[in-house]
Amino acid sequence: MQTHALADADRPERSCQLGLQLSGDVHDPRPSSWERIKRKTLTSCAHQPRALIYNMSDEAAAADLAESADLAALNLHQRLMSSGHERPEGDACPICFDLIELPMKKHSRIKTCCMKNVCNGCILAAVLSGLNDMCEFCRTPIPDDDASKLAMVQKRVSKGNAEAINLLGDKYYSGTLGLAKNVPRAIELWTEAAELGSSEAHNSLGFVYCTGKGVEEDRPRGIRHWQQAAMKGDVESRNNLGIAEYKNGNYKLAVQHWLISAKLGHEDSLNGVKNMFMKGHATKAQYAGALLGYRDAVEEMKSPQREDAKRVGI
Ligand SMILES: [Zn+2]
Ligand SMILES: [Zn+2]
Repeated sequence: MQTHALADADRPERSCQLGLQLSGDVHDPRPSSWERIKRKTLTSCAHQPRALIYNMSDEAAAADLAESADLAALNLHQRLMSSGHERPEGDACPICFDLIELPMKKHSRIKTCCMKNVCNGCILAAVLSGLNDMCEFCRTPIPDDDASKLAMVQKRVSKGNAEAINLLGDKYYSGTLGLAKNVPRAIELWTEAAELGSSEAHNSLGFVYCTGKGVEEDRPRGIRHWQQAAMKGDVESRNNLGIAEYKNGNYKLAVQHWLISAKLGHEDSLNGVKNMFMKGHATKAQYAGALLGYRDAVEEMKSPQREDAKRVGI
């Protein structure tokens, strides 16, 4: 709605002139001044130098383009705010089926054999049941050395597995798993994984392009990646969009993003909404909604075996 209002405000004089001339048509039987102008314009157009006609067409085309850009922005905004309110399937542990606590990298381990994120609770339960040195999910023996783990990942990469391609990108970016740090290669792999649907890869691309860490900074490009990920339910990307809008002074949009991620269990987003409430940029109802949603999401992610895992330091 806001973009429509802006588009109309761009053309106040045209609307005003048109209104005056139309009222003249009704009361004056002679050709109105509007008609005279129109006829004169049409007649003279036939004899106008081509350059002038092209200029007029360009102006109309530019107006059309601006209008379609406004519509596209409105469409994106609606999709952005109405989707991604649930976390993706891959955020659930494949053994206990509960959504993994945030941040996921702290509360789970990705398995190089099957590319599944197994929660710390299920890892502890497997250890206690005597299942050692093998994947808790697919029971593949887990190698000790980086070269064997890398071979497992590369095998899945060669089959076009988005999660494996994304993980290999992570390893090139950090220079781990026996690989030399190679940011351009990491970006190449993340881009491929993102095209195959990996929201984590979109999130990583958003991070590097927005911060310029290892690549030339390109914030609009980074934001577009976070938007893609957020619409798929990537909580970190949604939180990052909130931060970006907050930094731009777009407090209403920041609150809208953080409300979504807080209700998915993201603590920093909840604190963001709280901060906005304290400063008068969010309503009491918004803060209360974020608090209740966050509490429910955290409660759903808890389990006795996950609490045990925290106690023993897994
Ligand atoms: Zn689990
Ligand atoms: Zn496995």
